[in-house]
Amino acid sequence: MDVNTAKIETLVRELLVEIGEDPTREGLVKTPQRVAQALKFLTSGYRTDPARLINGAIFTQETNSMVIVKNIELYSLCEHHMLPFFGRCHIGYLPNGRVFGVSKLARLVDMHARQLQLQERLTEQISQEVMDSIDAKGVGVIIEAKHLCMMMRGVEKQNSVMITSSVLGDFRSSAATREEFMSLIGTRAA
Ligand SMILES: [Zn+2]
Repeated sequence: MDVNTAKIETLVRELLVEIGEDPTREGLVKTPQRVAQALKFLTSGYRTDPARLINGAIFTQETNSMVIVKNIELYSLCEHHMLPFFGRCHIGYLPNGRVFGVSKLARLVDMHARQLQLQERLTEQISQEVMDSIDAKGVGVIIEAKHLCMMMRGVEKQNSVMITSSVLGDFRSSAATREEFMSLIGTRAA
């Protein structure tokens, strides 16, 4: 289902009035249109099929070594305030005969991030998706992010970083595997 951008534009115009603005003044005339386009993009994860996204980017590879992709840039919107949270995502997995094309992991992160999210849920969705897609022996995902809803309002803690992790399979059952993952991405367990 596509987004009704005309409807969003109308709602943004009403929102501008409610917060005390004049939507007819020069700088704001095109704002509803811009906001609608931005929201369409920032929520495109709702309209992306993960199977199609991953399709064709899984390769057969006999390896028992851990695969790590670290520092994947991440931008999402918190579902409580619809304000951005942003940071980095680190993914590690133990293949079971199949590996991901590297760019696909980044796409997978984008897909799940482009929805209203909770950082905890986002972390779990990514790990589960990696686990299921390649039937991995184990997966670990860590997200470090700053939340504008905390930094700009409320407690105004500008420097706090939230760290969430999700470990599945061998990453959950084996402390040695988990430690290898943590040392490879250079982050201490939270
Ligand atoms: Zn929030």
